[in-house]
Amino acid sequence: MAKILDGKAAAAGVRSEVASEVAGLRERGIPVRLDVVLVGEDPASVTYVASKERDSQEVGIESRVHRFPVDVSQEELAGLVGRLNEDTAVSGFFIQLPLPEGLDPMPLISAIDPARDVDGLSPESAGRLAVGLPSLLSCTPHGIIQLLKRNGIELAGQETVVVGRSNLVGKPLAQLLLRENATVTVCHSRTSDLPAVARRADVLVVAAGRREMVGVEHVKEGAVVVDVGIHRKDEGGLVGDVRFEEVEPKAAWISPVPGGVGPMTRAMLLHNTVGAARMGAGG
Ligand code: NAP
Repeated sequence: MAKILDGKAAAAGVRSEVASEVAGLRERGIPVRLDVVLVGEDPASVTYVASKERDSQEVGIESRVHRFPVDVSQEELAGLVGRLNEDTAVSGFFIQLPLPEGLDPMPLISAIDPARDVDGLSPESAGRLAVGLPSLLSCTPHGIIQLLKRNGIELAGQETVVVGRSNLVGKPLAQLLLRENATVTVCHSRTSDLPAVARRADVLVVAAGRREMVGVEHVKEGAVVVDVGIHRKDEGGLVGDVRFEEVEPKAAWISPVPGGVGPMTRAMLLHNTVGAARMGAGG
């Protein structure tokens, strides 16, 4: 039976570290504030933003939400990004994605000062990661690395396979695994014989966005399996990219959905915000 990669427990550890760091910065008169840009009223985005505000408050981070109607112009949003970049009261900020149709997120994300890019999604943040310069790290991949490390899982020298090559998860995760001295294979929709490649993995991370796609045929006996996928079931509740019941007996470790990667993603946003505040204060 696999041991559970408990994201709730690991995230509680991260939040408690963040809370004490926020308190320390406040004592030195350094504010810690997270701003969010929210366009439209997409229910999932509204819910995510509300939970990020709640998370912030719990660890003592001030938060502000800049709300816009769906018909806001690209220029207006670009103006706000410019102002948030200059505002010394703002430690970091992010634009809640996806943006409504007609708005192009990339020029906006590219304009975010990398020192305030708490989502770690700007091309400059991604480039800095790739060439080994310090940067704020994309929350989900960094959360996955932390989930593994906090459970004592060794990555150096391990054969790791990442299923998915998105800018959000797969690509930055591959960079972070390389930084941890793992051997990294990245798979995607054109990979031939995915099960054979995936079975090479000591650590298999699945971020394909395909409900319960990965089964026992993809997993080596004793592997560590991290499920990044999130899918809403018609009957309520969440399920991942991995067929948990089937894979769990074969794996050494497995992350559940919910309660695995999701809580870590949320915690790493707080970690980045306090990191940005520290950097803004000169270290
Ligand atoms: P995405 O942008 O849709 O990327 C999916 C990737 O998976 C693509 O690279 C795609 O390949 C690959 N893929 C799709 N079908 C495949 C198949 N049959 N075999 C092999 N590879 C396949 O998705 P994403 O943003 O990375 O997110 C992935 C999943 O993670 C989603 O379910 C999302 O909701 C979830 N997610 C969870 C969290 C969290 O905090 N837990 C955070 C972010 C995302 P191509 O490049 O060839 O198309």
